[in-house]
Amino acid sequence: VLFRDFGLDTRIQAAIDAIGYLRPTPIQAQAIPLVLAGRDVMGAAQTGTGKTAAFTLPILQQLVAHESTSTSPARHPVRALILAPTRELADQISVNVTQYAAKTALRSTVVFGGVDMNPQTDALRRGVEILIATPGRLLDHVQSKNVALGQVSILVLDEADRMLDMGFLPDLQRIVNLLPKQRQTLLFSATFSPEIRKLAASFQKNPVTVEV
Ligand code: AMP
Repeated sequence: VLFRDFGLDTRIQAAIDAIGYLRPTPIQAQAIPLVLAGRDVMGAAQTGTGKTAAFTLPILQQLVAHESTSTSPARHPVRALILAPTRELADQISVNVTQYAAKTALRSTVVFGGVDMNPQTDALRRGVEILIATPGRLLDHVQSKNVALGQVSILVLDEADRMLDMGFLPDLQRIVNLLPKQRQTLLFSATFSPEIRKLAASFQKNPVTVEV
């Protein structure tokens, strides 16, 4: 299998070519077609398996259909929300998203706690289609009305097991309550504990399990 076989938008494929990926990793080969088909996916994958591209590339493919070159913030609502447990992981995902989306007009930003909210607020208010966030800081921005989540069509929970370990379950529930019920939800976790299965059952619709 080659990346070319997924039939991704030429600008997304060009970014993949520029980075130098030729073949998808096992998690990518399994997850990308399912995400492109609109399915909810529950993926068991550790860091280092290529899981970031496994969810980011098909998300970009779905979002380029709504791409806007307008400078109006209203034309750039958040459509994909990616939640991660730590600022390090959120930042790393953001770097990847920026690389993969570099040749498109899609905008992204990252928000996490422990730093000044103001630069994050400015980025949010300019409008972004893809928002990467840690749960607590995201809720701070929602409360301050810096961002609205009513047009999110894809939610990703990355390292969901760590988010539960860190006590983010109430925050995750609050965030999911702000999202449209009709959406695609992708959940990645190192293990599928009973708690993770419960989370998947409450947030996902008929998920396909992918394990590598
Ligand atoms: P991740 O598991 O998402 O943190 O990715 C681990 C590393 O693998 C990152 O440095 C990626 O740039 C790299 N990577 C992801 N997908 C591929 C691929 N298909 N071919 C080669 N390297 C990749």
